[in-house]
Amino acid sequence: MSWQGIFGCDEIALQFARANRRKRLGGSFLFVGPNGVGKRTFAFALAKTLLCRRHFPKRGDAALLDGWTDASQTADSQEFDRDAELLRFQPCGECESCRQFELRRDVDEALIPTHPDFHYVCKPPERSLLPLELLVGDKDNRMRAGLCFELNQTAYMGGRKIAVIDDADFFNQEGANALLKTLEEPPANSLIILIGTSATKQLPTIRSRCQTFRFQPLATDAITQILLERGRVETPEEADSVARRSRGSLVEAEKALDRPFVGFQQELLRELAKERLHAVDFAARLTEFVEEAGKEAPPRRRRLQATLATALEFYRGLVAALDATSRGAQPVRDASVVGPYLRAALELGRWNVESAIRCAERTLDALEQIDRNANLPYIVEAWLVELAAETRRLGR
Ligand SMILES: [Zn+2]
Repeated sequence: MSWQGIFGCDEIALQFARANRRKRLGGSFLFVGPNGVGKRTFAFALAKTLLCRRHFPKRGDAALLDGWTDASQTADSQEFDRDAELLRFQPCGECESCRQFELRRDVDEALIPTHPDFHYVCKPPERSLLPLELLVGDKDNRMRAGLCFELNQTAYMGGRKIAVIDDADFFNQEGANALLKTLEEPPANSLIILIGTSATKQLPTIRSRCQTFRFQPLATDAITQILLERGRVETPEEADSVARRSRGSLVEAEKALDRPFVGFQQELLRELAKERLHAVDFAARLTEFVEEAGKEAPPRRRRLQATLATALEFYRGLVAALDATSRGAQPVRDASVVGPYLRAALELGRWNVESAIRCAERTLDALEQIDRNANLPYIVEAWLVELAAETRRLGR
């Protein structure tokens, strides 16, 4: 089954359900995994469930638990099988807490819960790090505002308090230090959930104080289903084709839905698979395509990133195929969008592993420059000039 309709998170939900029923739930958690696999959706659904009075009853909640087997009645004597456990770990939808829990769109169009005992912070798009004031208040209100302060207040509804910190990859030392005490000893009946992309990107002081849960890329079928349900595609075939290019991430799937990009991707791969790459002409074409994304920098950057990611996939595929051939093995047939172009490039018989590796490295450098906010037309030109130089040396 999919716990609360969220794909691929049943095992994690099960651990929370059991720990909560046995009253052994910790207070500090770290969720890690690629972007777009459902970590935040899961954290929000978990928050609603754990805030629900049925899963954290107060005195006088007997009526609410009528016909409901509470942990205090079953103790450890009764165990539930997997599905039964997941089925009972749902918000009741009726209690005071459930009625207050609502998803509302914020300024960036993201759906964020509103609930008096739920607190959420994330990195604002224009900032490169998580601002300290979101955690401990600004200079004038240090420790008198912010998420850590809120978490230390008495719960408004007398139950739990839950905080979610998104973008935990972007803590600076100061922010991390401000959080350490709260992570080490979360206030009574409170939970703090950090969300990041990988455990290694977290400061060791933070990592060591949290229980870590790893979220895996979504199955292709799950992405196909979500795209169809959300009406993001017209046909099941299109959903399937996008899902295959998504690497299990809805964020990647959205990129693949950029239809002009899908067309351009073919143009790019044709150019990369050619005997000679024409740097000047293609730089002009790529810059034009990037600028068509809009006047703002972020969509332009995203387009160039997507382009470079495709190129990287091409060169990495080339390295793998050439390496296999050099060992006398049959290269694995690449079923992705780069597959046919890889075969075309290999048929030329000019490529060698070293050149393909260098092209992949140049592409990685260009991706890094985007992160450092370098000038996009400059990145495009420098990147293509280096690739062209590499293709000129081929087969000599
Ligand atoms: Zn409820």
